[in-house]
Amino acid sequence: MKSYQAMSKEELQVLHTELQKAYEDVKGKGLKLDMSRGKPGAEQLDLSMELLNNIDAKTAAGVDARNYGILDGIPEAKKLMADMIGTTPDRVIVGGNASLNLMYDVIARAMLFGIMGETPWCKLPEVKFLCPVPGYDRHFRITQTMGIQMINIPMTEEGPDMDMVEKLVSEDASIKGIWCVPKFSNPCGVVYSDETVKRMAALKPAAKDFRIFWDNAYVVHYLYEDDQPQILDIISECEKAGNPDMVYEFASTSKVTFPGAGISVFAASPANLAEQKKYMGVQTIGYDKLNMIRHVAFLKDKEHMMAHMMKQAAVMRPKFQAVLDVLERELGETGVGTWTNPKGGYFISYCGMEGCAKRTVALCKEAGVVMTGAGSEFPYGKDPEDRYVRIAPTYPAPAELAQAADLFVLAVKLASVEKLLEA
Ligand code: PLP
Repeated sequence: MKSYQAMSKEELQVLHTELQKAYEDVKGKGLKLDMSRGKPGAEQLDLSMELLNNIDAKTAAGVDARNYGILDGIPEAKKLMADMIGTTPDRVIVGGNASLNLMYDVIARAMLFGIMGETPWCKLPEVKFLCPVPGYDRHFRITQTMGIQMINIPMTEEGPDMDMVEKLVSEDASIKGIWCVPKFSNPCGVVYSDETVKRMAALKPAAKDFRIFWDNAYVVHYLYEDDQPQILDIISECEKAGNPDMVYEFASTSKVTFPGAGISVFAASPANLAEQKKYMGVQTIGYDKLNMIRHVAFLKDKEHMMAHMMKQAAVMRPKFQAVLDVLERELGETGVGTWTNPKGGYFISYCGMEGCAKRTVALCKEAGVVMTGAGSEFPYGKDPEDRYVRIAPTYPAPAELAQAADLFVLAVKLASVEKLLEA
């Protein structure tokens, strides 16, 4: 088969007519499917139901968890979460049901009260964040909502473009943070190389209150038993580089057990933890210790957690594979796009011809399949080249997934041919 770019106008016109007809046929089927969010499928959630059977209310030290107390989390939950992210219990606070909330709170405190005696961000004429792109839309929504200016940083296969990060951070004191998803990044599945982590830890920011927002959301979310890339522990790397306070790390069990009903973790230097606890203790008397007990009873330790994650992977792998097969079969020779084949995380990222992503997503929607909005992986919802579409294969049932993937490739083809005919 010829690549689309190599086709003549006449050939493209014939192809367009065929694709248009196929698309009208699919539209007639009245599909109603959702590939928009990285949500676990019901079969994955079923794997954690045993967690709800635990009715023990005493912590290992005999504290009655039904009552108030222990602001920073019960010791056994601290140990579990510290092991999960690869740090030590004295570096963590175990939080509530999800980590996004912790990220929002930490930024809100920096806005209102400032970090370690520096001017509160809301009193500064401008505050900026570096945003590796494509990235996670909800990160960008937090910074946008706070009025923080966002600067796109291109992602490479090793992580964010560190030359650019180093330069900007060292020259501009209004740059106060960078969003990072260091392992199986959302949506590209990138795993930061050791060099990237070391360079990140060794940054020399102009702003004393610059922080790396290290969202380790997919730290144990491997798809394969025999291919599990590891990353360096940013907290100890920052310590080694003489920047012990420069990082805030976050993670949760949202995609280990139940999204929105898991436990979360905030990890940082003792000085950062003390500062956050000062405000946290005003905001809450304590997080849900009963849920911490349930999680420790169910997940037990890192080894059991990893075994549990492999059960999830067994459910997820065929879904990823089904989408990848359709992409390869239908688009492999067309030359109109590329896509990622991640080793973990929740997404496949499709990168198409310039100016085609919005149209592709609109065509999917019109025929009944909701994809993540084109552009949402970029600050302000603006993909400068309109190329990226995030595919979340976990939520639909396998049969539905096949239909959704078939429609997606059809939409890609149609949008690409339309674009080529315009040229
Ligand atoms: N961080 C990233 C990179 C995510 O992809 C997600 C969910 O998709 C979250 C955070 C949300 O985490 P939580 O449920 O702990 O708030």
